[in-house]
Amino acid sequence: MSESLPRTLILGGGIAGLEALLALTDLAAERTELTLVAPDPDFLLKPMAVEEPFTSQPAMQRELAPIAEDLGAQLVRGAVAAVAPDERVVELADGTSLDYDYLVVCVGGRTRSVYEGATTLQAVGERMAIDGLIAEAAEHSSHRLTLIVPPGVSWALPLYEVALMSRRRADELGHRELEISLYTPELSPLVIFGQVPVDEVSELLRVRKIDFHGNAYVREDRPGEFFETPAHAQVTGGAVIALPVIDGPKLPGLPHDDGGFIPIDTHARVRGVDRVYAAGDGTNFPIKQGGLGTQQADAAAEHIAAELGADVEASPFHPVLRGKLIIGGESLNLSHDLTGGHGEGFASPDYLWWPPHKVSGRYLAAWLAHEPVGSERGPPSTPLDIEVALPHEWHENPMALDPYGPPP
Ligand SMILES: Cc1cc2nc3c(=O)[nH]c(=O)nc-3n(C[C@H](O)[C@H](O)[C@H](O)COP(=O)(O)OP(=O)(O)OC[C@H]3O[C@@H](n4cnc5c(N)ncnc54)[C@H](O)[C@@H]3O)c2cc1C
Repeated sequence: MSESLPRTLILGGGIAGLEALLALTDLAAERTELTLVAPDPDFLLKPMAVEEPFTSQPAMQRELAPIAEDLGAQLVRGAVAAVAPDERVVELADGTSLDYDYLVVCVGGRTRSVYEGATTLQAVGERMAIDGLIAEAAEHSSHRLTLIVPPGVSWALPLYEVALMSRRRADELGHRELEISLYTPELSPLVIFGQVPVDEVSELLRVRKIDFHGNAYVREDRPGEFFETPAHAQVTGGAVIALPVIDGPKLPGLPHDDGGFIPIDTHARVRGVDRVYAAGDGTNFPIKQGGLGTQQADAAAEHIAAELGADVEASPFHPVLRGKLIIGGESLNLSHDLTGGHGEGFASPDYLWWPPHKVSGRYLAAWLAHEPVGSERGPPSTPLDIEVALPHEWHENPMALDPYGPPP
């Protein structure tokens, strides 16, 4: 690789960072020298962490060094401490610095536990002891497992997965009397996906006997004492699991909003800063979801490639939400074009995007499916971009399709 090529630095080896690296490799490998800066040695597929407590299988994790090598990129292990955009320099926590011509900031958000008296669902760190929590809840006088989406910035879908998988696990453990309640500020279940997914998810919750409490802002007055507003009712649970909230990375040298998130435009350019882009949970886009982060990374990569003279049209970020709800044994695919005017969303047990991976990144999903970068990224047959009703059995007996569950 020529020394004289402009250098593109990608900060962060998570979902958005890897998508940016894959996209730039495809669109501009001959025009830029790519460097990935990451503090951790591995890429962790956080969305799969939700299954870990239920399956004991660790979420997918891959070493970054061979990935970078395969893609012809340099890997620098380190955490970024600050950016100096006027000098086009990034300072690392170990005191060293790196020059850049283009910078893509994908350092993610910072998760924060909200309630002292709850177990926080985290993608990294110690695995949640779900069997113990279910037993604790079942033995409590309320017989209740309570799940809380706190007010603030978060991605709610994993908590629905925990609720659905907990019902199945409780049945397996013989705690058939367990009550499960889910409290969330959302007005309806996963309302961000549109009315069709809301109807399907509501039905799944009903069949699995999960009480849904929407428009519920839960506060904790004393450790373990929870109240719901505006209903002003006590929230009782023998065991409580809550999502963390996400704060912005507040990276010194870059602008940020009140929450610490980096403001970007539709090409994922950081507002007011030349040649700096940002993608993923660390940006000010209000929905923190991996698939959306990859779409921002793609917009950044296309814009950089076009700036570097590649024959690429720099399309603006067009947010289409695609989520795979793991419901225990099976999954329900949900999608919704957030720009509006595209109907009420889709829900299907069949694929709604291709490859049908849990994170729907244009490049990342193909890479996770072991397809080469830049390969034909279409499904083997016509995409099922239509609304598909769930099989009748999923409503009446959702365990019926589960090959690992007890016989119906
Ligand atoms: C349990 C759970 C389930 C989820 N399920 C889904 C799902 O089904 N579908 C979906 O699309 N999304 C899902 N999400 C959300 C998704 O995981 C995030 O939106 C996504 O990981 C954000 O990608 P990111 O690259 O912005 O941040 P991250 O994936 O968090 O990556 C950030 C990277 O930056 C690195 N970094 C941090 N600080 C620095 C620094 N100072 N310098 C350099 N590098 C740094 C980190 O080490 C990390 O590698 C889920 C999240 C959780 C927690």
